[in-house]
Amino acid sequence: MTTTPTPTSPADAAGAGDVLTGVGVGTSAAVGSVVLVAPAARPPADEAAPADPEAALAAVRAAFAAVAATLRERAASAGGTTADVLAATALMAEDPGLLGDVERRLRAGTGPATAVDEAVEGFCAVLAASGPYLAERVTDLRDVRDRVVAHVLGLAQPGVPQLTGPSVVVAADLAPADTAALDLAKVVGIVTELGGPTSHTAIIAAQLDVPCVVRVTGAQRLRPGAPVAVDARAGTVVVEPGEDVRAEVERRRAVREALASASGGPGATADGTAVALLANVGTVEDAERAAAHDVEGVGLFRTEVLFLERASAPTVEEQTDAYARVLRAFGERKVVVRTLDAGADKPLAFVEVEAEENPALGVRGLRTARRHPQLLTDQLTALAAAAERTGTTPWVMAPMVSTPAEAADFAGRARAAGLGVVGAMVEVPAAALRADALLAAGLDFVSVGTNDLTQYTMAADRLAGELADLLDPWQPAVLQLVGLTGAAGAAAGRSVGVCGEAARDPLLALVLVGLGVRSLSMAPAAVPAVRFALSRTSVEDCRRLAAAALAADDAAAARAAVAQLADPEVLAL
Ligand code: PEP
Ligand code: MG
Repeated sequence: MTTTPTPTSPADAAGAGDVLTGVGVGTSAAVGSVVLVAPAARPPADEAAPADPEAALAAVRAAFAAVAATLRERAASAGGTTADVLAATALMAEDPGLLGDVERRLRAGTGPATAVDEAVEGFCAVLAASGPYLAERVTDLRDVRDRVVAHVLGLAQPGVPQLTGPSVVVAADLAPADTAALDLAKVVGIVTELGGPTSHTAIIAAQLDVPCVVRVTGAQRLRPGAPVAVDARAGTVVVEPGEDVRAEVERRRAVREALASASGGPGATADGTAVALLANVGTVEDAERAAAHDVEGVGLFRTEVLFLERASAPTVEEQTDAYARVLRAFGERKVVVRTLDAGADKPLAFVEVEAEENPALGVRGLRTARRHPQLLTDQLTALAAAAERTGTTPWVMAPMVSTPAEAADFAGRARAAGLGVVGAMVEVPAAALRADALLAAGLDFVSVGTNDLTQYTMAADRLAGELADLLDPWQPAVLQLVGLTGAAGAAAGRSVGVCGEAARDPLLALVLVGLGVRSLSMAPAAVPAVRFALSRTSVEDCRRLAAAALAADDAAAARAAVAQLADPEVLAL
């Protein structure tokens, strides 16, 4: 974008032409209208008893009725199961027992928002104790509570509002569950005040192929409905962009589209070395969308995404059905399924974890199986059943493997379940340093998760956006570990891939190939640019780029050194 950024101070209200800055995720740009995602309102700690209980009761009743009416409207415009869930939630908002409980509390002198909160929590406890089906309704009832409390306090409704046109979703941060409520067809950009370049907001933005800028101070003060241009490459949000900015966004969109239609087929370097181009997917719908792209398969199926909103563990049968749909969508193409990666930045309600001081260093990923071995067994059983049902051969890998013993244990369980191709993610420096031993422990392949590998190598929490300079996969220390993994794979004749966000940066992808990586998995929309970059560069040149990156002192210097040597057409992507 040609506009020179004039950063807006947090005290200013963003007006026409202002440019807010943050950390861009991806390379694309788009224009859309601001839609603010308000946080859930909490009752004030010192809420006073209502002066006029009758009036307070009438206001609370009206709030419940308004919430029920909104949910019904949304049900009418949604389809399938979403409509059913919304209609059922509307009924909960009209439950006479719940309203009666609120009334009793109000008359006893409790403040209105607090009365709603307490009454709903009481109902939630009953639901949670009434078996898995009703326990799942707890989330919906709490959603009703948040909406009613916002009404009562006169605040904006929480969560993602209904989108009516091309929208730039602006939030403090988006929880994985928030994004489930997004109307994907209408989201053209995502802007958050918090988050980091490898937080789930960023990953979801990549999945949607929309530009995303995180760490934007003042983003939540953007005026709802205002047009903004989001430029991920520049890390900027231009408020009420002028014609020049709009034209540049359009030009870039056209270049991307031309590239996508001009490139095709399996990935290969200019001298013909195959580098498989694969898709990252999180849900069955993601997978079905990705299957329509020109990709060679799935390099990372994040199975935990399927179960984010579940209050109880999915059954083997449910999992088998879901995996079978994904495997069927890809037919003969390779599908790498990752077993549950719960914990830290991906909490799952049905995986109990005690509060940990440092969840990222705690019982997460494969370590969860130490406490809940049955979860892993069920998942492997379901995947094997899905393989049999579809006549396919999925690859399976475990997240957060740290030692050869863990690799051997996982391989043993997976093979015992009937799965033939077994691997591990390399996300922990220990795994990269001993990748040869990991492979020798009985693995067929490894896949480098650069998001976590960067977090653990640089000792920088991936959710801590203010450490974005450290959380950069261009960090030479991270690349050195990828190089060790690549060399171990080459020596053992086993496949080494990358499935972290690093794979979708065309320039960095070349460096990864120079380090011995032979498959790259990313959001499907990123594939054409990476394919193009590979087609312009020989393996020998990739090695030269990698050497330049490794010789640098930090991420910025590594990127600059590689940019100097790279094909200018690749740089322009
Ligand atoms: C990674 O860590 O790079 C990865 C691919 O896994 P996730 O982002 O799901 O942790
Ligand atoms: Mg990871």
